[in-house]
Amino acid sequence: MAFRDVTGQERAVNMLLRTIQRGRIPSSYLFVGESGIGKKFAALNLAKALNCLKTVSSQQSAVSSHKKSRVNSQESEVINKRFQTHDPRLMTHDYRVIDCCDECSSCKKIDSGVHPDFLLISPEGGQIRIEEIRAIDRALAFKPFEGRWKVVIVDEADTMNPFAANAFLKTLEEPPKDSLIILISSNPDRLPDTIRSRCSRVNFTPLSHEACKRVIETVKKQSGVRSQESGVKKRLSTPARLSMGRPGLAISADLIKERAWFLKLLHGMLKAEKDGWTSREEMERWFDLIVILLRDAAIIKITQDEKNLINIDLKDYIKKFSSSMDLKVIIENYQKLNTLRGYLNFNLNRSLTWNYTGSILRKLKTEN
Ligand SMILES: [Zn+2]
Repeated sequence: MAFRDVTGQERAVNMLLRTIQRGRIPSSYLFVGESGIGKKFAALNLAKALNCLKTVSSQQSAVSSHKKSRVNSQESEVINKRFQTHDPRLMTHDYRVIDCCDECSSCKKIDSGVHPDFLLISPEGGQIRIEEIRAIDRALAFKPFEGRWKVVIVDEADTMNPFAANAFLKTLEEPPKDSLIILISSNPDRLPDTIRSRCSRVNFTPLSHEACKRVIETVKKQSGVRSQESGVKKRLSTPARLSMGRPGLAISADLIKERAWFLKLLHGMLKAEKDGWTSREEMERWFDLIVILLRDAAIIKITQDEKNLINIDLKDYIKKFSSSMDLKVIIENYQKLNTLRGYLNFNLNRSLTWNYTGSILRKLKTEN
């Protein structure tokens, strides 16, 4: 996979390609946007593009100040011939290609996480600790060994604990030459200002329904689901809608199964049963789905048109669910629960939140 495979993020990708083309790569980026929309995928492809053996001949001006890779010129030439992209957004004015080739040994090593100049840090047990920051410092202590750039990706950077964040600030303040740190975050507000202000921010946005479906289709195809299989496209439509523009979500989880879990808990809640969430992540996901359900209930009231529903395959259920409800009350409660969803960041008490939400929903069902 390469930059040309990043779907629905033209603005962010174009910006990154321009910085490579001009050779003005900052020492640190902060990729921001909801989870599952391609931030890590773009970061990985940036690491590949900066170290791709193919780009040696096409990017000489951009990287002239940097160490040239120990490239086998024959390999470079063969890849250059085989590499054909005609997507205009990936071409510079003089048609030099700046995307990675996805075929050379450097691209393959980065993909499999074994490139000596590439490091990917992710939280363990929900946190990034100081040990991980020390690993970054060790990785950046020497010049690039094999490629042109040392690239470190810090996924879910906002999970750094205070000690890690403090140590990391020093790393950001003294960036070694030929190195790039890419922080990825869906909750950038949780990062200290001092870290945020030292990074060049790149915003990623949720995808359109069609783009989302395309990404899910491509990934399913690669993982062996035959595209010609009847009904595949139709079956992908609901997960694409439920992912709300975040195809990564539909790829990493079975959203139909997740929705069945949500409905089971909802019915338990309406019957005033004991709380059924086991973690904050579950609470967040459950709130995503209740907000979607109320949104669908409002849509069916306003338009009577089922094709605008996110839960398009549950149209009869939505009609029944909303039949006794007043539109104004649905909208009021949608707003109420949406606000509550935002407060989950503050570690709300699980059973109190369950009881409170249950009381809102029970009232909504009986008020009219
Ligand atoms: Zn390559």
